[in-house]
Amino acid sequence: MANFTVSDHYWIDKAGRLMRLLWRQAHAVRQFCTGQRCLAPGAWRHHWGTDLDIFDPDLLPAGARLQLTPEEYLPGGYFAPLTRWLDRHLADYGFFRPYAHDRGGVAVEPWHISYRPLADRAAQALTPAVLLQAWRGQEVAGSAWLAPQLAYLFRRYIDNIDKE
Ligand SMILES: [Zn+2]
Repeated sequence: MANFTVSDHYWIDKAGRLMRLLWRQAHAVRQFCTGQRCLAPGAWRHHWGTDLDIFDPDLLPAGARLQLTPEEYLPGGYFAPLTRWLDRHLADYGFFRPYAHDRGGVAVEPWHISYRPLADRAAQALTPAVLLQAWRGQEVAGSAWLAPQLAYLFRRYIDNIDKE
């Protein structure tokens, strides 16, 4: 198993850079809400800078490509040791899994972790009105379609998470 106390710092640094890149792309690339995800700018937890997807490259078999499927993280999957480590230690570092169970909104994502001290504040602050205000003056593809559906999208995707 990787040394997480050392690699944590490296990962957080990498994740921070990736998050900033995603944030910039979010404004440039067409975003949308689909069956099991809502990627609208500002609505996706990755855009908040509080959430990230975690995997262990040391556990990925040679030649295998990361797919981010639940099977990779379940018992028997090659990230199962990471799952066990996360189960034991995630909360110690202030993280939780918002998409641990199928709640009829965002698909199950055992790799997706959220830093609770900041994410809870962001979730409380984010309302449909705040999102619409953030979009004002921006080119958000599909915003004319999304705006009248925001109450539904908040109910189904944004507020509909596992809290433990
Ligand atoms: Zn994610």
